[in-house]
Amino acid sequence: MTDRLDAAITGQDRDLHAFIAGLPKAELHVHHVGSASPRIVSELAARHPDSKVPTDPEALADYFTFTDFAHFIEVYLSVVDLVRTPEDVRLLTFEVARELARQRVRYAELTITPFSSTRRGIDERGFMDAIEDARKAAEAEFGTVLRWCFDIPGEAGLESAEETVRMATDDRLRPEGLVSFGLGGPEIGVPRPQFKPHFDRARAAGLRSVPHAGETTGPQTVWDAIDELGAERIGHGTSTARDPRLLEYLAERRIPLEVCPTSNIATRAVATLDEHPIKEFVRSGVLVTINSDDPPMFGTDLNNEFAVAARLLDLDERGLAELAKNGVEASFLDAPGKKRLAAEIDTYTAGWLAS
Ligand SMILES: [Zn+2]
Repeated sequence: MTDRLDAAITGQDRDLHAFIAGLPKAELHVHHVGSASPRIVSELAARHPDSKVPTDPEALADYFTFTDFAHFIEVYLSVVDLVRTPEDVRLLTFEVARELARQRVRYAELTITPFSSTRRGIDERGFMDAIEDARKAAEAEFGTVLRWCFDIPGEAGLESAEETVRMATDDRLRPEGLVSFGLGGPEIGVPRPQFKPHFDRARAAGLRSVPHAGETTGPQTVWDAIDELGAERIGHGTSTARDPRLLEYLAERRIPLEVCPTSNIATRAVATLDEHPIKEFVRSGVLVTINSDDPPMFGTDLNNEFAVAARLLDLDERGLAELAKNGVEASFLDAPGKKRLAAEIDTYTAGWLAS
């Protein structure tokens, strides 16, 4: 009896996974360098034989097995160091798009930290041309639409903020695909309000505000992101669950959360998946979107994050389609683009359920 029950559940899971794999999706919180898969890293490492990053896929898989968060940062920085020329930037961007397309991601807002590359000596113009060239080629080849979020690496301080906002707002540099302005890196010791002038300038130039907040610090950081930086979406916001007034505010104002379940466990923002506050967010009426953050580095991808969400929220195909549509609603696509992608999700789901 138990065996048969297990088999039935496994069969259902398999169906759900197949449904997710074909479901058209939007990805709103995913980092450029953090999306470099072992395959991409191996290609980049082969271009720069002097780096200590292995090129052999098996050795790379070991290299990507993190012992702790410090080790994750070390590996992340070694991948940042492999991106040294505009051609590296183009390769990384185009190959990341290929992997997004493979997961049926139809639209992605990719978070890019241009300061990490330009301070390493990559020419600004070359960097912008490389990402734009990759964006156009990826859309033509895979049909996946890419947009950019330029983010401030919080740990690099005010100079990095100044440089990032300059690159994002200078008409001679600003790439066509840029839609938003963000803030990443550690939260502890990096108060959000110090970046108010930079966000003010970015917003005045028409960019949308999407800082990370409340991932490793409490709900006050989310309030600061809203009040000081004009946040229109919150990256992570896991600690929001500790403040009922904040949950109510996010629900009322339709300020979405970019939830990345596996990342939250890997960075210990949340202790275990079963304790993940996503259920609390949904119960409070907050618009929840599912995202992957730094997928290969956390051993996940967007499809897996949808499967995790299905388990945590007890969702069937219709529930998963609604979750995918939340991503569309929370995106910075224009109204016709949102309508088209939502219709694509509906058509796919109706076809699946009818078969
Ligand atoms: Zn992130």
